[in-house]
Amino acid sequence: MNKIAVYPGSFDPITNGHLEIIKRASMIFDMVIVLVAVNPDKKATFTPEERVEMISKVCEDIRNVDVRSYSGLVADFMKEGLYDVIIRGLRTVTDFEVEFQMAHINKNLYPYAETMFLCADDETTCVSSSVVKQIARFGGDISDYVPNCILDLIETRIKNNKED
Ligand code: ADP
Repeated sequence: MNKIAVYPGSFDPITNGHLEIIKRASMIFDMVIVLVAVNPDKKATFTPEERVEMISKVCEDIRNVDVRSYSGLVADFMKEGLYDVIIRGLRTVTDFEVEFQMAHINKNLYPYAETMFLCADDETTCVSSSVVKQIARFGGDISDYVPNCILDLIETRIKNNKED
């Protein structure tokens, strides 16, 4: 049986923390769909297309990763594709509270959706997209927090778009 997991998130932008989770999930499942979940109520810095492009670039060497974007409820994406595993990463107790609630809501919306949590790696547990953007806006060094192949892209984009 081909076991497919969906890893949804904003990925605005993808960080080394996200990548760590993707790599580990890709070793457990036959296929991992990294889903850029587009939420019109949440102001993003990068467009969904840019986010998909960055994730695809970062994951190009992982053969069982597919990158997509979806505007709508993750539960609906799961239902449409008949997927049943959602992957989420956990960094802190605060993450846990939010994620626990979301796992229940997704299960209520689509009862076959089982959320599985992977704990953040020691080295990337403090990394978040918002911290990366905050450092980059002030010209700080983000090379420890994001994959090398998208470093220039993030820095240039944020420099040219300081108001985000
Ligand atoms: P969302 O806006 O849906 O929370 P994010 O892109 O911020 O999207 O995060 C997507 C998922 O990745 C969430 O489950 C989040 O907890 C997890 N995540 C984010 N950063 C890290 C990290 N450094 N280590 C492990 N998991 C992480």
